[in-house]
Amino acid sequence: MELSDVSADLTEVLFTEEQIHAKIAELCRAIEADYAGERVLLVGVLRGAVMVMADLARELKLHIDMDWMAVSSYGAGTQSSGVVRILKDLDSDLHGRKVLIVEDIIDSGLTLSWLKKNLQARGAESVEICALLRKPEAAKVQVDVKYIGFEIPNAFVVGYGLDYAEKYRNLRGIGVLAPHIYA
Ligand code: 5GP
Ligand code: MG
Ligand code: MG
Repeated sequence: MELSDVSADLTEVLFTEEQIHAKIAELCRAIEADYAGERVLLVGVLRGAVMVMADLARELKLHIDMDWMAVSSYGAGTQSSGVVRILKDLDSDLHGRKVLIVEDIIDSGLTLSWLKKNLQARGAESVEICALLRKPEAAKVQVDVKYIGFEIPNAFVVGYGLDYAEKYRNLRGIGVLAPHIYA
């Protein structure tokens, strides 16, 4: 679905499909340079990272493996607390693996900082993070993100995997959700 198909639900278009694809290609060139000749395990965080993973994996000129995790962070309301529960774990053994976590967005950074430590503790040789979007809030938590697509304002965004109440994941682009939708 196009952003224009739900324009009444958005206040702003942040990124078109073309801009996202150009950014993903840029991220892939950096990843290829860092992992030349290596086999990387891409770990996608369900469900938001599905689109990033699909495009990133196909654009990468490297041999990769793909695995998936689903996590939920406990917390009151919309703030994540940093206490994370694993809903679906990896199938892969991480011993000696070079792991690249693929995420849609970093907000507080609490989920990813927990996840990075969790995967490191399983014996991975390295664990790095690639996130398409980062909000300024993320700066408050010490999480080292090696590959970032776009820095965005502190607004609730949807599309390209990102949902509101499970809607809008299938938008080709990314936009800011209009407050009347969640008010
Ligand atoms: P945090 O970094 O705060 O621990 O949590 C990040 C998670 O919160 C993301 O993976 C995503 O699921 C959700 N999230 C944070 N900001 C947004 C946003 O603007 N839009 C959507 N749809 N989800 C968000
Ligand atoms: Mg996510
Ligand atoms: Mg969500």
